[in-house]
Parts: sequence; structure tokens; C-alpha cells
Amino acid sequence: MLSSSARFSALALLAIVAPAAIVAIIGYVSIRQWEASSELLYREQARDMATMAADKVEATLRRTEDAFLDRVQAVLQSGALPASALDDLLAGTPLVRRLYLIGPRGELLYPRAWLDGDQAVFGPLVSPGAVRRIAREGKREVVASNHACLALLTQHGGEPVVAAFLRDPDTLRREILETTLGALESSTIIAVLDHEGRTVYSRAPIGDAQRVLSVGFREALPDWRLTVYQAPGASPRQAVRRQVMLFTGALGVLVAVIAAGIVATWRLMRRETEMARLKSDFVANVSHDLKTPLSVIRMFGETLEMGRVTDEGGRQEYYRVITREGERLSRLIDNVLDFSRIEGGRQTYSMTPTAVEPLIRTTLEAFAHPLAQQGFKVEVRVAADLPEVAMDADAVGQALANLIDNAIKYSGDDRALTIDARAAAGWLVITVSDRGVGIAREEQARIFEKFYRVGRSDTQGRRGSGVGLALVRHIAEAHGGTVTVESAPGDGSRFSLRLPLGGS
Ligand code: ADP
Repeated sequence: MLSSSARFSALALLAIVAPAAIVAIIGYVSIRQWEASSELLYREQARDMATMAADKVEATLRRTEDAFLDRVQAVLQSGALPASALDDLLAGTPLVRRLYLIGPRGELLYPRAWLDGDQAVFGPLVSPGAVRRIAREGKREVVASNHACLALLTQHGGEPVVAAFLRDPDTLRREILETTLGALESSTIIAVLDHEGRTVYSRAPIGDAQRVLSVGFREALPDWRLTVYQAPGASPRQAVRRQVMLFTGALGVLVAVIAAGIVATWRLMRRETEMARLKSDFVANVSHDLKTPLSVIRMFGETLEMGRVTDEGGRQEYYRVITREGERLSRLIDNVLDFSRIEGGRQTYSMTPTAVEPLIRTTLEAFAHPLAQQGFKVEVRVAADLPEVAMDADAVGQALANLIDNAIKYSGDDRALTIDARAAAGWLVITVSDRGVGIAREEQARIFEKFYRVGRSDTQGRRGSGVGLALVRHIAEAHGGTVTVESAPGDGSRFSLRLPLGGS
């Protein structure tokens, strides 16, 4: 039976743990793929968004500068070079901080003189050779850290003029970067870094946000980069990781619950199997216990009836044996009946104040014959000052009888029985000690279970049903007390029955 329950648990484990493991593996693999693809998707989206934002910045900057240059060109086309018109134009375009117009021979046409060392920046770029080169290539150029720009315009007569202008960094940040990037709808942090990696503009404080990627601008802001940051904890990888943890946790709980279920079922099955075995042992033991005294009574009765015992002394001995076996039978039947009443919840106890010593002595008297016959050294020690204790005297007497019966049954060569009764800390403590076979430590808790008998070798040949100690424990607990055992194999046992002195 046990091996079949072991097979059941192995099968159950296989049937439940294997699918759980497969689900776990599939879950793990798909989550890893999900993690990788969501990361990829996120990066692609971030790149698209960054490129679009960079294009937008570039276009706005270009548009503003082109509009300014168109107006300068218009002034140039008018023939004369009215400085005041250019001054007004400059004042109306905050993005352009300074403007210089340089003729084909490198001569400064507007304003009259270079300001603040601007010549050092533009001088080499607008030499006659450089002007010719710009005229030839005909394109705009951004030089000197993105703040200085060159553009080719034409004068009234068709002569080339180079417009060199300086951008205003504040206006660039405020009117171009802030208005373009600030309007973007995205939860990510966008920042613009200059050619030296300094943050020129950032949509939100970067703090310890993680850099995701960066894209470059084109001709209008070469060497500047637009960088995308991700706030800590908000990256898709971390979101997926949280999902993974949740999934793993849920799976762990599921597996633990299943495993607990299997263990519980297995234990239940084992208990049931054990109980079935114990019950069948119980029936066999009780039948045997009933048969033995009955056959003795019948045999002795028949012998007497046939008049085979002629002397009076012999007859008296036969009567005693019949009475003793009769008592043993009633004890056994009482045990079984009480046990079945307890099992059915029908047992009741009636508490009356009882003197302890007489109860012990009368109970012991019933065993006088076997004790004397087997040569037991009996010692009874009852404290003199014991008060009467509220108890069901029949039940406690029965519990004591079971303890004494066991002390006799499980005795060895050293036959001694000691009963000790005393009061201790509010309890009446009655101990029944023997020097018999003793009980192994691991069995001590189980001997109080119903039908339980210690391994067959020890109890073989000793009659018993396995309900005696279960009954003792029930009686003790019904009185609000306990029964405990101290024992070691070969050293004898000592059972202590504790009942509350004040009654229950
Ligand atoms: P049983 O009818 O088998 O005696 P009990 O419930 O009275 O049933 O006892 C349970 C088991 O406890 C016994 O089978 C025996 O192995 C062990 N036992 C009980 N009393 C003693 C004792 N005094 N010495 C050694 N073993 C004992």
C-alpha cells in the first residue's frame, strides 16, 4: 500500500511539476524575447523621434536665417547700402547678434569696422581667396562652433558679397530649441549637446536618467547632437523585468501550492493506510484478548462442573482464576466501549470530590494476583496531606488500571511497580513507574494515538488493543489535565497523570 502511495506521489509530482516546469521555461523564453523586442522597438521609436526632432530644429533654424538673409539680399539689391536699414533688420532679428558684409576683395562693406575681435574669427574666412571659393561653391557654411555662419549674397551689380553673421546663443536656445522641442509629445527627456558635449538645452532635468541614444544635426548645427534620455526605472527593460519578477513569483507560489497539496494528499493517504492497518490489527488483537480469558473461564468452569477438583483449596483457586479472568474481560470490554463512546463523542464524566489514596489502592487490588504471581516489587507512596480532588473516579480508576496493566505487561526481568501521588503547583500528580522494556524516544509521542502499538517485536506475545493509552490521554484531558511519559529502552517507563487540584 505504501509503495502505491509513493507511486501516486511520484506520478502526481511528475504530472504537476513537469507541466509547471514547461510553463516556466516557455514563460521565461517568451519573456526574454518580449524583453529584447520591446527594447528594440523602443530604441527604434526613440531614434525616429530624435531624428524628427533634430530635423524640426534644423528646419526652424534654417527658415529663420533664410528669411533674414532674404531681407539682407533685398537691401543689397536696392543698390545703395543704407546702414540704417541693415541696423533695423538686425534689431528685428534677435537670432542674429552681428552681421558683416564683405565684398569680393575682402573689404568690409558693413558695418564700418569689426567689433570685439570678430575679425579674428571671420578675417581668415573672408580673404579674397575664401570669398572666391564661397562664390564658386555657392553654399552656406557654419563655422566657429556653430555660432558663426557665412552665406553668399549678390550685390546690385551682380558682384558676390559674403554675409558673415553671428548667432545669439540665448535666442537660439529660447526661440529655436525650446519652442521646437518643448512642443514635442513624448515622455522621454530630450537634450541638445554642443560640439564639446555640454548640455545646451534639456526638456527636463537629466539627473541620473540613462542615455538611450543620440543623433546628429545636419548642416545647420554640425557637431551638435540631440540626445534622448530615459528616466530611471522607466526603461522598457525594467518594465519587462518587473513583469518577469511578477510572473516568476506567481509561478513560484503556484508550484509551492501544488507541492503543498501533493504533500498533504500523500500524508493523508499514508495516514489513512496506516489507520486501516491499525484498525485491522485492533480487531485481531481484541478478538484474541476476548478469547483467552473466555477459554480460561470455560475450561475452569467445566473442570469444576465435572467435579474434578476435589479439595476445597483447589476449588477456591479455580474460583479466583475465574473471577480474575472475568475482571480482565470487563476491563477490556470497558476499554473498548469507552473508546467507542469517546470516538462517537458520547462519553460523559461526572466529577465528584474523591480521596486519592483509596482510589489507588482499590485499583491496585484488582492486579494483586498477577503482581504477586509474577513476583513484582510494589511500592505505593501517597503524600499524606493530599486533599480530595474533583474527578470522575471510575474514569481515573480506569486510566490508572490501564497504566498499571501496561507496567505489568511490558515488564522485563526486573519487576518493580511504583505508584507515587503528590500535589505539585496546583496539580495532583500520579506517576506509575516500571523497570520494564521502556519506549524509544521517537515512539513516545505516538503511543498515545489510538490503535498505535510499538513495533511488533516489542509487543509480540503481549496482548493489547492499542487503545489503552489513547483512553488515558482522553480521560486526563477531559479533566483538564495531561499524561506524559519519560522512558528509555531497557530502563523502564514512568507515566505521569496530572489532574488539576481545584477540579475542572
Ligand atoms: P496496548 O493495548 O498495546 O498496551 P496502549 O495504548 O496501552 O496499548 O499502549 C500503546 C503502546 O505503548 C504499547 O503497545 C506499548 O508498546 C507501549 N507501552 C505502553 N505502556 C508501556 C510501558 N509501561 N512500558 C513499555 N511500553 C509501553
